[in-house]
Amino acid sequence: METYFNAQTGKYGFVELTTRFGGVQLPEIQCADMRKARIQKSMQSDFSSFLIDEIRETLNKNKQIILFQNRRGYTPLWMCEICHWTPRCTNCDVSLTYHKQTNSLKCHYCSYVQPPVGTCAACGSHRIKMLGFGTEKIEDDLATIFPAAAIQRLDLDTTRNKHAYENILNDFGDRKIDILIGTQMVSKGLDFKDVALVGILDADLMLNRSDFRAFERSFQLMSQVAGRAGRDHERGKVIIQTGDVDHWVIQKVYQHDYTGFYNSEIIERKNFFYPPFYKIINITLKHKDEQVVNSGAQQLATSLRSVFKERVLGPEFPVVRRIQNQFLKQIKLKIERDAPDSKIKDKISELIDAFYSHAAHKSIRVVIDVDPA
Ligand SMILES: [Zn+2]
Ligand SMILES: [Zn+2]
Repeated sequence: METYFNAQTGKYGFVELTTRFGGVQLPEIQCADMRKARIQKSMQSDFSSFLIDEIRETLNKNKQIILFQNRRGYTPLWMCEICHWTPRCTNCDVSLTYHKQTNSLKCHYCSYVQPPVGTCAACGSHRIKMLGFGTEKIEDDLATIFPAAAIQRLDLDTTRNKHAYENILNDFGDRKIDILIGTQMVSKGLDFKDVALVGILDADLMLNRSDFRAFERSFQLMSQVAGRAGRDHERGKVIIQTGDVDHWVIQKVYQHDYTGFYNSEIIERKNFFYPPFYKIINITLKHKDEQVVNSGAQQLATSLRSVFKERVLGPEFPVVRRIQNQFLKQIKLKIERDAPDSKIKDKISELIDAFYSHAAHKSIRVVIDVDPA
């Protein structure tokens, strides 16, 4: 969004790429209506029958498949059916992700690991159900449905060893792998001529994120992953699994309509004071004591407000309010894009210096992030 805006307003040069390399047609994108599939009970684990049929047909044609799910591990959520308790990290305010290969529950924010639980810690029931799905579960389920297919996973967990990433991609290029399942690692730059089908397994997971870049990210990731299909002469196919087939962002992906997406999204950015019109400055305070971080954030926000007025938002807890035993509180500043950078920077450091002159604040960490990604 920001780059295109800069190109439109003359800050950057603008060169548009209007045809694909080699004149290959853009892939045909179709949606699998997951709401309908769930009602009709036509799902096979987390796959629509539509996607399963297309995978089968692609395998029969001796072509390759890429499946995209931006979540690693097996299941992100274990929940007690009786009281909705979920196992959580002891150091962070997040639920633990089950990893089947190591048979453990892991925190994706710190290194905490524990064995899986069979009993609810709150009510003692044994009825624990698993919700959601990551790349590891997709690999597992798919191996049951297509036992003859060579399936490989490309994510942070399978590429920890040196050269693992290159080896997997080489194997895929050498046709030793039929189906490649991956996180956003599969979205960019992969160019394999025999990939005829791309499946996006859970578009809603991306669209429902709570930051202002969620739609931009979703559009970008879906378009990029879709671009992996049909790099050779034949037109590729993309299937997006979603519970919201009419979602405007999905419609724009569907229509390969980048400018249409940009034109709608840029209005939202303007209306809600986001980049490229405003600069976002996140000031995060961290401390192991929740009360210390709360009162510190309150005081810093008050002093920021005395200078920046209504441009100051918060303090609020971020989505994850505790990481590695540190409580977090965030103050957000929305500053007009044309305001002089150095003046604002000086003013903020001045206020933070004053903040640290109080003994009570000395142990609080303050982290400043301009235009956070
Ligand atoms: Zn943790
Ligand atoms: Zn329970």
